[in-house]
Amino acid sequence: MLLQISEPDSGQVPQRERKRGLGIDLGTTNSLVAVKTASGVEVIKDATGEVLLPSVVNFGEVVLVGHEAKATASSDPKNTIVSAKRLMGRSREDLTVSQTMGLADSDRLAFDTDFGEKTPVEVSSEILRALAKRAKENAAAEVDGVVITVPAYFDDSQRQATRQAAELAGLNVLRMLNEPTAAAVAYGLDESIDESSVVAVYDLGGGTFDISILRMERGLLRVLATGGDSALGGDDFDECIVDWLLKAWSLSHPTYAEQRELMGIAREIKESLTQLDAISVLPPSFCSDREELTLSREEFNTLTRGLVVRTLDACRQAMSDAGITDVTQVVLVGGSTRMPVIGIEVADFFGCEPLCTLDPDQVVALGAAMQADVLVGNGDGGEALLLDVIPLSLGLETYGGLIEKIIPRNSVLPVAKAQEFTTAKDGQTGLVVHVLQGERERVEDCRSLARFELSGIPPMVAGAARIRVTFKVDADGLLEVSAREEITGTETSLVVKPSFGLSDDEVALMLRSSQQNAAEDMQARQLREARVEAESLLHGLAGALEADGDLLSAEERGELESTAAALVNIIEGDDVEAIRQRTETLGQASLTFAERRMDRSIKSALSGVAVSELDDSD
Ligand code: ADP
Ligand code: MG
Repeated sequence: MLLQISEPDSGQVPQRERKRGLGIDLGTTNSLVAVKTASGVEVIKDATGEVLLPSVVNFGEVVLVGHEAKATASSDPKNTIVSAKRLMGRSREDLTVSQTMGLADSDRLAFDTDFGEKTPVEVSSEILRALAKRAKENAAAEVDGVVITVPAYFDDSQRQATRQAAELAGLNVLRMLNEPTAAAVAYGLDESIDESSVVAVYDLGGGTFDISILRMERGLLRVLATGGDSALGGDDFDECIVDWLLKAWSLSHPTYAEQRELMGIAREIKESLTQLDAISVLPPSFCSDREELTLSREEFNTLTRGLVVRTLDACRQAMSDAGITDVTQVVLVGGSTRMPVIGIEVADFFGCEPLCTLDPDQVVALGAAMQADVLVGNGDGGEALLLDVIPLSLGLETYGGLIEKIIPRNSVLPVAKAQEFTTAKDGQTGLVVHVLQGERERVEDCRSLARFELSGIPPMVAGAARIRVTFKVDADGLLEVSAREEITGTETSLVVKPSFGLSDDEVALMLRSSQQNAAEDMQARQLREARVEAESLLHGLAGALEADGDLLSAEERGELESTAAALVNIIEGDDVEAIRQRTETLGQASLTFAERRMDRSIKSALSGVAVSELDDSD
């Protein structure tokens, strides 16, 4: 390392230039961007002073994004795309009939517009581009990197799609961060709460509901459980009002455009009821019934009671998954938590007053910006960087179809571990490294990630070669496995991409099944180990008989062979004890034979060596 020498009379250390890392909350309904500056973390407003950018895109001669696009939703529904996030990384089979409304009639999932088919990734990239432009203009500075948040429920393909959208918008993605974790960071909970404090993040947005249970462990916010519903949000509260309006105004078959207009009216009603006890609405022009309607907050709460109950059921499930009965803090996130009923029900359910001092619309973006600032390199090293953990153990297949875990689950990223292995057979020159993920003991119960071969091992007797296998997982969850034969230095490595393509549900399922099957797995493991041991003894004995069979009398040989046959007879059975016993018996029975072989090999080794030399060396 080179030491820096400053000029003799300049006592000043040059100021390091601050880099710009953005935190972007790419929401179903609204998106926004935040940045940390020297004075603190703040959301970035557009030229007209708006913080929230509606996640709406209108395709036309020019592409409109946000409020301008939202204004065209009723007049130009075909070319105006809303809630594209619901379709990110999805396939047709994942969708409900109403979600396929307005989609192009093709295999790939895209919106049909007069300006061509537009995929959800393209739509999202327009939103991200608009936010990045806003950030650039605001500070007249380039953007060095972004942290984009995604719902905890997003599976790998949904996360990949989001990342693609950012790349399409020309952004450098520093990390994808779960929205609830970002919210906890915004409240500084990662630094302020005690060890083993439990935080629940209740996030009710426009299109999704997420409940996450986090715990502070060894200075780290760890996600204990996540739950929720990726198809439950403020939109559904709007729909309850739409149904009520349809009935009250006797509208049976509204057109798509009319439906959307009603949704707009419903949202206004809902948001007004956050302030007011009751609200009156005039029917829209397409409605023949001209009656003015009034909806009270109480009636609204009754209409939407089922939705609130569903969120609480998910909270109960997440608490039970996390194995906890109490939480220390509850954070409210998402515009829909402004509805007074939510604050009341959540406080009642968790038995504590929720944190809501930060704007529930902004919390996620603020937390993401704090992380982006550290990741882009502005930190002084003192701030907490959220670390991800490995959801499932990583390991490799060993002889007998068993998995040897190299990196245990919940290890904090980045992590690297190495372990030495050896060959199972004499003269073995190749070795298959089969990389697996899971908690179960047997290979077929785990998920196969990759398989590669290390060749060029010099032929040696079984157990003599030393092969060092290293597992490395970087901060983005990318796994690199390398295998190196220590004597010759032959090395092969492979990168397993991308990370852990499992949804939280799948991880939960695999963990549950490993717990349920722990006893059965242990049994299976013991059986395989007993078999491996028996097989290696039989294998060795067969070789020895072939090489030195003449050391035994016919009678001795017959006896040994029948003892071996007794073991062979039961080796495929599942009686672990019997296999162990007969292996032991065979081992005992072959002792004399082994001794005689030892004598012979010593004799042959010593032949040619003078007895006097032996004495000298003694
Ligand atoms: P997302 O994260 O899904 O983009 P947001 O967190 O921006 O969503 O929340 C949007 C939802 O919040 C919409 O359903 C909107 O109607 C609702 N919302 C916003 N303000 C209010 C309010 N004052 N009262 C009730 N709901 C509101
Ligand atoms: Mg949100």
